[in-house]
Amino acid sequence: MAQQFDVVVIGAGPGGYVAAIRCAQLGLKTACIEKWQDDKGKPVYGGTCLNVGCIPSKALLDSSHRYHDATHGLAVHGISAGEVSMDIPAMMGRKRQIVSQLTGGIAGLLKANGVTALSGSGRLLAGRKVEFTPQGGAPELIEAANVILATGSSPIEIPPARFDGDRIVDSTGALEFSEVPKRLGVVGAGVIGLELGSVWARLGAEVVVIEALPEFLMMVDQQVSKEAYKLFTKQQGLDIRLNARVTGTSVVDGRVNVTYLDGDAEKQESFDRLIVAVGRRPVTKGLLAADSGVNLDERGFVHVNDFCQTDMPGVFAVGDIVRGPMLAHKAMEEGVMVAERISGRKTQLNYDCIPSIIYTHPEIAWVGANEQQLKAAGTPYTAGVFPFVASGRAMAANDTAGMVKILRHEETDRILGCHIIGPSAADLVQQMVIAMEFGATAEDIALIVFGHPSLSEGVHEAALAALGHAIHIPNRKKK
Ligand code: FAD
Ligand code: AMP
Repeated sequence: MAQQFDVVVIGAGPGGYVAAIRCAQLGLKTACIEKWQDDKGKPVYGGTCLNVGCIPSKALLDSSHRYHDATHGLAVHGISAGEVSMDIPAMMGRKRQIVSQLTGGIAGLLKANGVTALSGSGRLLAGRKVEFTPQGGAPELIEAANVILATGSSPIEIPPARFDGDRIVDSTGALEFSEVPKRLGVVGAGVIGLELGSVWARLGAEVVVIEALPEFLMMVDQQVSKEAYKLFTKQQGLDIRLNARVTGTSVVDGRVNVTYLDGDAEKQESFDRLIVAVGRRPVTKGLLAADSGVNLDERGFVHVNDFCQTDMPGVFAVGDIVRGPMLAHKAMEEGVMVAERISGRKTQLNYDCIPSIIYTHPEIAWVGANEQQLKAAGTPYTAGVFPFVASGRAMAANDTAGMVKILRHEETDRILGCHIIGPSAADLVQQMVIAMEFGATAEDIALIVFGHPSLSEGVHEAALAALGHAIHIPNRKKK
């Protein structure tokens, strides 16, 4: 007889494993199917995020930042460190150790919560039946009262720059270089391209980023993206070419020759390696039988409503395979929402309050609406900006590039958005995520006591500036 579960989750990335754990916590008999294996055939949980995404990229960003600081940032403090060198295999070993500790941790958490972890691949059939094919085994049927699809995303490959796994690589390949390329090309100035470009630039590569769009970081508040462009090109050594579309590549004698259109002019570049980071697409191939009852939208994502319900009752989909930003924390919270809704709760996710972060240096982080969106919507607002150059804590840390910007509704005073470029932006923006979830006004933030000296004072001062009475910077004259 087919195995039966209350919930079967397909995929154990942040969307899937979190959904499975929460379902089990709520007393549902839960299985989680994952096909990822290590090179010894051992099941690996955690998906893109833990294996080849958030975690390994941040490990390399941290190592490379320390190296860059040791070579460029110590003299100002009066420290001379002698000759500093970088051991790339050691850096990679540390990264692998972090990944294996965390992925092993997820296996432990699934077990501790009573989730049945199934190693193999899953496919949704009609009537919420799941076909489970164990690694190297024959397909079996599983019956599920509910199914959660969480198969994630994979890198997009473009015809002019096909991956060869050696010289032309995707983000996964870019986390595995065994030496620092002398000259590195990056196609796409999105979040992943900038983060991975930064890693290798800090370690000494000459990095050229080729981006098709004429504007830099279009999804970011324009004041912040302009500042980022200035800082990345001047201070961080990234050569960012906008309005430049890659049209062809060839690998000759171990070098990648790239042709791109700069406006109308055809140009050439030659690199030791090329990272192609032009976005990711949902993984749905082979996942859905024709009669599964689940539909895709026009962009190939699984079609869901605000509660991640697909067109088939009892089948849900979360994370990168559904609309919305491809972010691990968005996937996780969708997983929690779905688990709780299956167990009868009315949990909702506030999609307007999902923070975004780019882990460059300085970091960029934001939540809510940006200035160009408010202008386009005709929303009356005022902006308050506090530059880190006026922050005692940032000065003490010799990390004064950037700003905190808060946008408030001119009539209700509600905080509409917060946009930060600067030290610890990821952690600072979370304060405003919490504030916005509680419907805070700029005055609420103004009346809160912030520890001194701290980078958080920048958030306080930006709120004060939006109200026109910042203390530590001059205020704009009232009209
Ligand atoms: P995934 O993590 O992709 O997991 C899906 C899982 O499903 C995989 O393990 C896959 O093997 C499995 N699977 C697929 N098909 C099947 C099947 N048929 N049967 C069984 N199993 C299957 N996000 C952030 O929030 N912060 C960051 O700093 C960040 N950095 C990133 C850096 C890089 C280089 C990359 C590539 C991504 C980064 N992301 C980051 C994005 C983040 O990794 C994803 O948004 C997140 O992993 C999505 O989670 P998910 O559960 O939807 O899918
Ligand atoms: P993201 O979707 O944030 O990962 O960013 C991917 C970036 O790659 C986008 O800004 C695209 O404009 C860019 N892009 C896509 N195709 C090309 C191409 N052929 N040449 C240069 N940039 C590209």
